[in-house]
Amino acid sequence: MIITRFAPSPTGLLHLGNVRTALLNWLYARKHGGRFLLRFEDTDRDRSEQVFIDAIQQDLHWLGLNWDGDVLFQSGHAVKHRAALDSLAAQGLAYRCFCSESQLGLDRKLSAARGLPPRYVGRCRHLSVDEAEVRAASESFVWRLAVHADEGAVTVPDLLHGDVVFARRDLDDPVVVRSDGSFTFLLPNAVDDAVDGITHVLRGDDHLTNSAYQAWLVGELGYAAPVYLHHGLLLGMDGSKLSKRSGSHSVAELREEGLLPLALVQAMARLGHPNMPDSAHDAMQLVEYFNAAHVSTSSVRWSDHEMWRWHTRLLHELDRASLLPLIRPWLPEVDEARLLSFAALIERNIERAGDVVQFRRLLDVAAPLEEEALPVMREAGAAFYRQALAAWQELEDADWRSWTAAVRERTGCKGKALFMPLRVALSGALHGPEMSDVVSFLGSDEIEARLGSAIE
Ligand code: GLU
Repeated sequence: MIITRFAPSPTGLLHLGNVRTALLNWLYARKHGGRFLLRFEDTDRDRSEQVFIDAIQQDLHWLGLNWDGDVLFQSGHAVKHRAALDSLAAQGLAYRCFCSESQLGLDRKLSAARGLPPRYVGRCRHLSVDEAEVRAASESFVWRLAVHADEGAVTVPDLLHGDVVFARRDLDDPVVVRSDGSFTFLLPNAVDDAVDGITHVLRGDDHLTNSAYQAWLVGELGYAAPVYLHHGLLLGMDGSKLSKRSGSHSVAELREEGLLPLALVQAMARLGHPNMPDSAHDAMQLVEYFNAAHVSTSSVRWSDHEMWRWHTRLLHELDRASLLPLIRPWLPEVDEARLLSFAALIERNIERAGDVVQFRRLLDVAAPLEEEALPVMREAGAAFYRQALAAWQELEDADWRSWTAAVRERTGCKGKALFMPLRVALSGALHGPEMSDVVSFLGSDEIEARLGSAIE
């Protein structure tokens, strides 16, 4: 069975880059009838926090990216990580390195001067076990993997790139345990994947070299390496690394802005994988169309604009019962029946739920006008509105058409000069629903109240 996982570190909120990784792994598992696991890589004790563990789960639920089984925690496998290191050390495949930072800095400078890559020179690799034991009692050290070799190769099986072969002479001896005794990302991540039975790992191509180390490591421990899919990176809107400045957001932030989760999923699923259906109503419907072979190996750019375009489209497709809870937070005081007819009136005129506040005047004569609407009202002037009110009161069963004809008669205004001041007085905004609908929504008393307030 195919098993994928999303393995965030609970050191912050879920951001766009994480969403992409989670989504791809989720799509791949669902597509193949497999399992999608959630594993918190929480071994950085100082930076991992329960609030992030909770928030990440909430965000994944909100996006519809549900995982199978219990949530896993890397810290739960600490004994296995230690055992893996001991086993590698016993085979001479991991060793203690006592080189100081300043020594390593010097080594790097010398390598650079000779035009060599910045690799560890291997000074401590050949210390005898006994000597290393003695020095370890009094000196600080890290653990390294003995990957670098003059001969041999490491193969990373990849769904997009085929077998990626790394000559061991091009690889380093990476640090797996820091001087404070904590593991770096490499070993726990790979051992957990092996122990959790992960068959496929979909992640950014910035991990490609890590995958070489990890494929080597799990191979030496006697496990099969997972199959990888290294996709092109997600870049910011301006083509730079995705960051707050280049347009990244946390999922929590987007949710607070009233975004529909599927809009984020749609925009994300299409990046580097264009042939997704337009009509999906939940993430599950994208699964059928997902094909890992179509995922782009080139980097892709995030676009907020695309995401919000999806949002507007989905918002317009919502039935009213689903729209109400979205606009409710913006209009908490309005009773249910009134909110429902209000929603029917303005639903085509909003792009985001929060846009309803522009039309608050339709519900409350005391609500302020849109800023740009104010000059229109001033220019029309009290005399115009007096005539408009008189015309309204004089007509029986007035509608928009008969009323505007009567106002034109009385004021001589026509076209925009006739319609805009009336729209602004009634709705508070320059644009919005059909005025004939506004008139029937408001009813006579409310129309008189708004014209009255425009006269003052
Ligand atoms: N905890 C790692 C990260 O957040 C997981 C990387 C991976 O997918 O293997 O980058």
